[in-house]
Parts: sequence; C-alpha cells; structure tokens
Amino acid sequence: MRIRAAVLRHPGTPVEVEDVELDRPKTNEVLVRVAAAGVCHSDVRHADGDLGPGKWPAVMGHEGAGVVEAVGAEVTHVSPGDHVALCFVPACRTCRYCRAGNPNLCEVVAKHGATGMLMDGTSRLRLPDGTTLQHGLRTACFADYTVVAAGGAVRIPEALPLWQAALLGCGVVTGAGAVANVAKVRAGDAVAVLGCGGVGLQVVAAARRAGATPIIAVDRVPEKLELARTHGATHVVDATSPEGAVETIRSLTVDGVDFAFEVVGRPETIRLAWDAIRCGGTAVVVGLAPDGVEASVPAIEFLSEKSLVGTYYGSGDPAAELPALAELALTGTLDLAAVVSHVETLDGVEAALDRLRRGEGARTVLIVDPALAGHAG
Ligand SMILES: [Zn+2]
Ligand SMILES: [Zn+2]
Repeated sequence: MRIRAAVLRHPGTPVEVEDVELDRPKTNEVLVRVAAAGVCHSDVRHADGDLGPGKWPAVMGHEGAGVVEAVGAEVTHVSPGDHVALCFVPACRTCRYCRAGNPNLCEVVAKHGATGMLMDGTSRLRLPDGTTLQHGLRTACFADYTVVAAGGAVRIPEALPLWQAALLGCGVVTGAGAVANVAKVRAGDAVAVLGCGGVGLQVVAAARRAGATPIIAVDRVPEKLELARTHGATHVVDATSPEGAVETIRSLTVDGVDFAFEVVGRPETIRLAWDAIRCGGTAVVVGLAPDGVEASVPAIEFLSEKSLVGTYYGSGDPAAELPALAELALTGTLDLAAVVSHVETLDGVEAALDRLRRGEGARTVLIVDPALAGHAG
C-alpha cells in the first residue's frame, strides 16, 4: 500500500514527508493505522546521524499509538480495531536476556535493530523507486500506517485518547522505569532530575508517585522548569545560575541527593549528576549521548560508595508496563496531556526536531489522524 511517511534520507538533510510503499504484515506482524506520534530527543540523534553510521534511509518515529488495521498469521493478542500503543522493543521472549527477566535488552531485537529491519531481518518499507527503507527504531510511526512486530503493538484501553497514548511507548516507560525499576525510589528519598524535556518530566512525575522529597528539577529553560513544577518538582534550579546547580542541590539536601537522574545525554550533566549525589547515592544516566562520546568521574569517589548506572527503556518489561501506565493515565494519576508543549501535523516533524535541537519545549505530538487521535491537531 502507498502511505505517507517521514523519511530520513541522510543525516544533515531535512526529514521530509513523502510517499512510501508499505507491504502487508507477515507472520507475527501487525499493521497499525497511526493516530499520533511523539517526537523524542532520540529522533534528533537519529536524524543528525548521532546513533552511529548506517541508520538510514529510514522511516522515523518510535513513540506512537493507533488502531490495528490487520494482523499477520499467528497473531492472537490483538485484532483489527484494537487500540494499541507502540513498543519499540518487541522482545522475542526466548533469548537469554528475555529469559533472565530483561526483555528490554532482548538480543534478537538488538541484532535486527542495528540494521533497521523487523524481527525476521527484512523490511516492509521502500521508496517508490524500490530503495529499501529501514524501520526507524523498529517502529517507523512518523507515518499514517506502519507494520510492527507483534510484540511492538500493545493493547491499551479505548477510553484513553490516542494522542495521549502516543506518549506511553518511549518517554513514559523510560522515565517511570528509571525511577521504579532502576533506582527503586522510596518515600522520602531525595531526588534530582537534570533535564526536564519529555522524558525528564516523566522522571519527575514518577518520583512524585513514589513519594520522593525533595524533587529538585534542573534545566536551562524557564518554561521547562515551570512544567517540572506542575509534574511534582518541589524545587527548580536554573542550570545557568551563577551559584551552580550542584551547590544549590547540596544546600537543599543534607549532603546531596539519594538519586540523580541525568536525562540529557552529555558528559557535563553526567558529571553534574555524579557531583549531586551523597555518599552511597546513585546517579542514573537516562539521557542518550551521541555515539562515541565519553564521560568521566573522579575515580577516588567510588570509595564513597557512589554508583553510576545506566538504563534502557525503563529497564523492565515495557510491553507489560504499558497497559498499567495507560490505566494510571485513565485514573488521572499520570497526566499525559501536561507534558505536551506543541502539537503539529505529520508534516511538522522537521519543525519539531528543530525545537528539540534548540532545547525548546517538552514534547511535540504529531497528530497524524485527528479523528482517530481524538485531537483536532
Ligand atoms: Zn524516545
Ligand atoms: Zn529476546
């Protein structure tokens, strides 16, 4: 079928929406009519070539929601008409990582993800001239239709508007999981969040749900700090202030925070997270740094029992957590709408990427199909 999709032809050139051919879903695949998609900072990394070589040409987008249009053979967990959130790690459930309880690190997904192919190693996407296109982050949802691996389509309650559900599959799972699965934040823990974009705000919100206090949000952009307040930050710190963010964090706590979440992906902010934690504290790096970037910390401070840990996609079972997070959104415990700073049509993808490059705003949602998304756009 002929679809419209945002194609990354080469890093450094604008991402443009063009006509693309999409094949029918094969065995264990699902065709989804996309309602809406979120634009994440990882999309900027992808578009700018910072995920490493060979990630193009590709249809972009890894956070979205829609309605099942058709299913391939052996798909039983969803049917046409079901509302689904997209999950960019469709775990195989049989590899050693999946068996060990780390489906977010599934090695089959990693193997095909490296080439931009679906789980059988092939693509359903091509340009009209026959050029094969990659499925960006296995999801390719900056498009009006997409074919994903069965595990990439997770059924969610129909009551949740799809323009909000579109945010679940990356930012919410990643932020909530960093707090609940990695740090295991408990009531009364002191938390700092460095970077208050789409994912950082979800870290703030999850820290509030866990009962953390104080929750200190750090960013350079005043409007993002205000958003952090509405998500639960008890204190906000302007990262550009002359007093210095670390000194301010230390003045607000006994001797630094229990957990600092770095949600930027830069060596400077990773070091800031390290400096902000107390003895025995943990710095959790959530941000995605460009390929090849290194970070360093004073090694003698490992004697203080400080920890620096990584996380990927919430470090839990994303497909299992998505419906639970959707339920939280339905009860109002999780406010998905509040993170959305901008709304665009599919054609607004490059404008959304540029805003992220400039550090402006939190999440942009692309309304691909207004009627389906439940948002006029
Ligand atoms: Zn993302
Ligand atoms: Zn696996």
